[in-house]
Amino acid sequence: MPRLSSRITGIIPSGKDGWEVHFTAMTRRHAGEDIIMLSVGDHDFSTPQETVEACVSALHGGFHHYTQLPGIPELRVAMAKVSTQATGVATTPAEVIATPGGQAALYAAVQAVLDPGDHAIVVAPYYATYPGTFRAAGAGYTVVETRAEDGFQPDAAAIERALRPDSRAILINTPNNPTGAVYSKASLEDIAALCRERDLWLLSDEVYWTLGSGEHVSPRALPGMAERTLVINSMSKSHGMTGWRIGWLTAPKDVIRQLIDLNLVTTYGLTDFVSHAAAEALEKEYGVREIAERYAARRLILLDAILGMNDVVVRGSEGGMYVMLDIRAIEPDCEKFAFALLDAEKVSVMPGASFGEAAAGHIRLSLCQPDAILEEAVTRLRRFVSQYRSKAA
Ligand code: PLP
Repeated sequence: MPRLSSRITGIIPSGKDGWEVHFTAMTRRHAGEDIIMLSVGDHDFSTPQETVEACVSALHGGFHHYTQLPGIPELRVAMAKVSTQATGVATTPAEVIATPGGQAALYAAVQAVLDPGDHAIVVAPYYATYPGTFRAAGAGYTVVETRAEDGFQPDAAAIERALRPDSRAILINTPNNPTGAVYSKASLEDIAALCRERDLWLLSDEVYWTLGSGEHVSPRALPGMAERTLVINSMSKSHGMTGWRIGWLTAPKDVIRQLIDLNLVTTYGLTDFVSHAAAEALEKEYGVREIAERYAARRLILLDAILGMNDVVVRGSEGGMYVMLDIRAIEPDCEKFAFALLDAEKVSVMPGASFGEAAAGHIRLSLCQPDAILEEAVTRLRRFVSQYRSKAA
């Protein structure tokens, strides 16, 4: 076979990818073991029925054709409306581009602002695809850790220390995956000030914007930021549509104009009938409130059940679809803890170290299971923790 490009082989360098506990659990579950899966961030429920109906109608209505490269007009109108609501900045359809999921919006954002050899800052803990997305652009990056003891809030001074003359962008994610931290307005203001002073782009991943604990604060709304902020958004989490692959990027219109060329050579637009259903779901907010309420209730159930568990400390966990537990007092090696929990109690969680060093010594629990299963998982975790400690003693 002739050789492959280093661009493609360099996206995921071989070796451990952090998903070992999850895939071990999956294999054992498929073999028939009763394992509670709290290691993945996909809903345990289907897409709202109204959205499904809208898609079926669009299919019967003959929407089977190529679409406009940046998205069908009604979808862009609906996305711009949601961006106005989500970011607090009046947004026109010319400032959004529809993409197949939030991941493709992130890819587009990185491609738009970084040349090969440029440098970026990634605030950690971070979503697992971030490093590969920079590598795919040939860009370098420095990971800046947030501290568990600060509730995983970013520290602008630490970011500033990591900046280099060739730094072009900072990537943040709030509400955060994996920690569930919701970045405070003060933290975002400090990062925004840095972006303005150093003339940097801010890539702001806000795919969990409906799942925060209070009003969503987007850095795009801060003074002087709309012209330098690219917001990654998605219908996967907010609208219960992970498998539909619909997301979008909000950015200055000159950025969007250039990104239409990227769609020309990559996706060539989105699926026609899915686009129509997505536009209706955005306009009518199908499922949004119910999904947000469901995750908020589950977070409370889980946090209540964990309260008082000796030596387990909750960090972050204010929004998104995850709860982050500091288990360092019991076992500093979070992967060892996660494998032992899987073996002893058949509960699969993600070791925090899979998301960068900042979350080492933690485990991430996803809220994507019904209430009763979450409660059962905590009962098992409680039993495991007390036995682990007594064995270690
Ligand atoms: N950004 C974050 C922080 C995520 O957690 C995810 C998915 O889990 C994505 C982006 C990608 O979203 P999508 O499923 O729409 O591609």
